[in-house]
Amino acid sequence: MKEEDIIYRLKRVYAEINLDAVRCNMENMKKNIAPKTEMIAVIKADGYGHGAVPIARELEALAFLYGFAVATAEEAEQLRNAGITKPILVLGYTFPYSYEKMIQEEVRMAVFRYDTLNELSDAGIRLAKKGIFKKAKIHIKVDTGMSRIGVRPDEEGLCFVEKAFKTDGIEVEGIFTHFARADEADKSSAENQLSVFEQFLERVRESTGSKIFYKHCSNSAGILELSKANMDLVRAGITLYGLWPSSQVRKDIVKLVPALSLYSTVVYVKEIEAGTGVSYGSTFVAGEKMRIATVPIGYGDGYPRGLSGKGFVLVHGQRAPILGRVCMDQFMIDVTHIPGVAQGDMVTLIGCDGKEQITMEELGDLSGRFNYEFACDIGKRVPRVYKKGGKILCTEECCQDF
Ligand SMILES: *Cc1c(COP(=O)(O)O)cnc(C)c1O
Repeated sequence: MKEEDIIYRLKRVYAEINLDAVRCNMENMKKNIAPKTEMIAVIKADGYGHGAVPIARELEALAFLYGFAVATAEEAEQLRNAGITKPILVLGYTFPYSYEKMIQEEVRMAVFRYDTLNELSDAGIRLAKKGIFKKAKIHIKVDTGMSRIGVRPDEEGLCFVEKAFKTDGIEVEGIFTHFARADEADKSSAENQLSVFEQFLERVRESTGSKIFYKHCSNSAGILELSKANMDLVRAGITLYGLWPSSQVRKDIVKLVPALSLYSTVVYVKEIEAGTGVSYGSTFVAGEKMRIATVPIGYGDGYPRGLSGKGFVLVHGQRAPILGRVCMDQFMIDVTHIPGVAQGDMVTLIGCDGKEQITMEELGDLSGRFNYEFACDIGKRVPRVYKKGGKILCTEECCQDF
């Protein structure tokens, strides 16, 4: 298909993902961590809404990339089915129905429950009967302050690690923890978690005598500002998409470029008289004669209804405020102050147009969501288009929803 045709078909709305930005963000983060520290690209929730498979394909060849992290067995399987061969770590609890598959595909699992050790061992025995001889590779999860998943860094946790080492069919490849507050200006909580983790690792070394290859704790915020937490691996999530973990982190340490832009098009322009209500509930009523335009995207595409009367878009390089409520599939904007707006004009919902820029952080704040959530919530109805070297890549396997 010709590029123009593709763009034309995508014109109602599309998200453009710049794969060069994704790679640069990874490379820039790498410059900020220890030379020996490898990286994990966290691409759960379909790459924070950006598309896990194209991003994995773009990053897989990077030498400093250990592999990928996802949240579920299905997400891991999707990557393997797409031909991704580097290690994949499932960060959450993996349910037993998928153990044989996970072992066979060499997907690493976060493990912190005794029953999982036994069930993995059993799954290994079942596989052996089918002539497949593989160990379950696990990363033990330690809870140092999230109170989410993970064994406690105490006597009980130590027993768990020992048991994992002794369980047939299991290879303890890694051990990790997760920061609850590394994105805050005050790093004392994260530093405390780090020291608890380090002390526990020391006890693990003394008691098992074994070397665990991959010890890791840093998320994006840790990569930016906690260099003493580098260890063997760091897990980069939000920053790989060029977004910031919070408003409190320093933005001058690593250069990041937002990877996603969201575009739509004006489908209707009209003048309305003073006193005319706009959208459901007429929460906006024109105070004077004005020119308004209709944009064909709404909360059915994941564009938040919370932006009703608050958000704005870019048209002709200028900000145009949203008037009244965002509907499921459309909303209206004020273009009175922007000359010559016509049907078919491009609308930038996220990204740059001329000197103006709308970031996901800004829209996240305005809508009461935060940027992580904003990215994940961009809906299935929005096709993703991938750009590389200034060119649009839009092949069947790359444009998932196309
Ligand atoms: C999601 C997640 C990450 C990535 O977090 P970011 O803040 O996006 O970098 C890292 N580790 C674990 C365990 C996670 O669940």
